[in-house]
Amino acid sequence: MRRCEKCRRALPQGSIYYRLNISLLQGFDGVLNEADGTSIKDFISRINEQTVGVPESLLEEEVHREFAFILCSRCKEKYCANPLDLPLTGNSIPKKLSDLQE
Ligand SMILES: [Zn+2]
Repeated sequence: MRRCEKCRRALPQGSIYYRLNISLLQGFDGVLNEADGTSIKDFISRINEQTVGVPESLLEEEVHREFAFILCSRCKEKYCANPLDLPLTGNSIPKKLSDLQE
């Protein structure tokens, strides 16, 4: 049976579920620090030195990763509320109702 990949809740036939597809791509703004004496040629040769002997599949993972998950409705809501799992500072839940009446 299909299950939520976050909470493991069973998702029987006919139930609503969500597909979460994450595509993570490396960005590069094209700016080289030429003030440091870095030319395109230096830059490329440095990359070539750093990647000698590294399997192609690992290099590919460095620039592009794909993730796919099945989520139940509850886990989808939690994910959408905070997709980057940021700390919830400033939105803390008051311990007592009286804390609200300041
Ligand atoms: Zn779930």
